[in-house]
Amino acid sequence: MTSHSVDVLVIGGGIHGAAVARDAVGRGLKVMLAEKGDYACATSSSSSKLIHGGLRYLERLELGLVRESLVERAELLKTAPHLVAPLTFLLPIYHWQRRQALVLRAGLALYDALSFGDGLPASGRLDDDDIAQLPRLRQEGLTSVLQYCDCTADDARLTLAVLLDARARGADILNRRAVTAITALANFYAIELDERGQRRRVEARFIVNAAGPWVAGIDAMTEVAPPARALRLVRGSHIVLPMPEPVQRDAYTLQDDAERVVFVIPWLNERFLMVGTTDVPHQGDPGEARCSAEERAYLLTAYNRYFAQAGGPATEDDIVFTWSGVRALHNDAGAKPSRISRSPALSSVANGTGGFVSLYGGKLTTHRALAEEVLEALHRLGAEMAAPWTRDVPLYGGTLSRPELLACAEQGPRTIPLATRHRWALTYGDKIETLFERLAADPGSAEEIAPGVTRAELDHATDAEDAMTAEDFLLRRTKLHLMLDEGGRDAVKRRFAVGA
Ligand SMILES: Cc1cc2nc3c(=O)[nH]c(=O)nc-3n(C[C@H](O)[C@H](O)[C@H](O)COP(=O)(O)OP(=O)(O)OC[C@H]3O[C@@H](n4cnc5c(N)ncnc54)[C@H](O)[C@@H]3O)c2cc1C
Repeated sequence: MTSHSVDVLVIGGGIHGAAVARDAVGRGLKVMLAEKGDYACATSSSSSKLIHGGLRYLERLELGLVRESLVERAELLKTAPHLVAPLTFLLPIYHWQRRQALVLRAGLALYDALSFGDGLPASGRLDDDDIAQLPRLRQEGLTSVLQYCDCTADDARLTLAVLLDARARGADILNRRAVTAITALANFYAIELDERGQRRRVEARFIVNAAGPWVAGIDAMTEVAPPARALRLVRGSHIVLPMPEPVQRDAYTLQDDAERVVFVIPWLNERFLMVGTTDVPHQGDPGEARCSAEERAYLLTAYNRYFAQAGGPATEDDIVFTWSGVRALHNDAGAKPSRISRSPALSSVANGTGGFVSLYGGKLTTHRALAEEVLEALHRLGAEMAAPWTRDVPLYGGTLSRPELLACAEQGPRTIPLATRHRWALTYGDKIETLFERLAADPGSAEEIAPGVTRAELDHATDAEDAMTAEDFLLRRTKLHLMLDEGGRDAVKRRFAVGA
């Protein structure tokens, strides 16, 4: 068994583990991150893909969480412009709804005030002509349509952008390495990793448990673990529908009969609509979370209640894809899943001159700020480190604005179709140059493995981004799984089967 020694071992390659590893290495700590599956394979690729303040948290007066999220939203627009983009959300109001226009307008005014200074458009109300133009939205009983701005992101790639930045700064970032055992020794921990069948021992003065819904299982591996917090595992699912004609450009925030909202968001160049989410107590392995028949029915009902399609209501047969993620929420009271606070929580324990920090809850949007809190906790446990540094620092691929990226794509090699170069710009950011360099060095790599998928891109995914399976590439390095037909997906799978 090989052995290795680090200051901090981060367990989990979701957004939170990634953010902690990045912050820690930038403060001068020796960092290793171990992810048992692929990066972002769990909750961090299963979100609603919003970088948002969370309008509905205002109702619960979680003003601190909303303000922090809106500050981070503005930050991410600057530090990951290729992955995070503003989107208009419409809030239709019908006479039968519990929340009426006055309350919602007040909520939006507060949302505007809390996001002051970020340059995004303020909220407003559509006029009657605009409302009449909205495709498919049911008009009976409609009293008003409000609009506000929020942001969407590619969640899996955002996680990867944080991880690759951490690696570029010297962190040891490893996928498909599961932590299988933790032993507390005087002043440090001995950790056993399963590296696809090979065992490796790592010694770390500090452990950060960022295992998301597996947080309790990791804590249970050692007796010197932070005090456990009450944990609720709550599943949220989404369904994907083909975009009906005419195309819908704006997203919708729909109220249901209870206190929940359902988002309907145009996705992947407006080829699809994603509809979600649910809030269901989750039992069993979080890795096996699937969208149940009841969740599909709930989401279809929510959609059909608001939209009337020419061909009749959307049905099970229209669903082209689903995903489910499990939130690890800390909660002491017996609140309904949708009512449990999304505020994160930390728990920590000292182990001589070392220590252990576990992380509960959180949001994709606030990962950077939460990582700073984790670093503060490590500092309190005795870790010596430099000052906070991550604010305003671009993520991997994030140094160019969208217009600059699209200009860069326009100037790329003509052997690659322009649509593909545009997709690359908004997937790889400034690292599009790496792909262009690869093509210049090896013109044959412009060969198409599947429509719009070149060998150069697959090589980049395996060499620079640790993709090991077709699924890593199709679902998380890109979203091509939905853009390719079965033949295209099979071609990518064959490529990985022989070693991409
Ligand atoms: C349905 C849904 C919608 C959401 N929508 C939004 C949204 O729109 N905007 C927003 O800001 N937030 C959203 N969130 C919240 C956000 O997605 C999560 O807070 C965030 O992704 C959690 O990241 P994480 O790193 O804590 O956990 P995860 O992403 O689950 O990462 C934990 C990782 O630990 C790994 N791991 C587990 N055990 C081990 C082990 N033994 N060894 C090594 N690795 C291990 C797992 O494989 C996993 O990859 C949503 C959440 C859900 C569920």
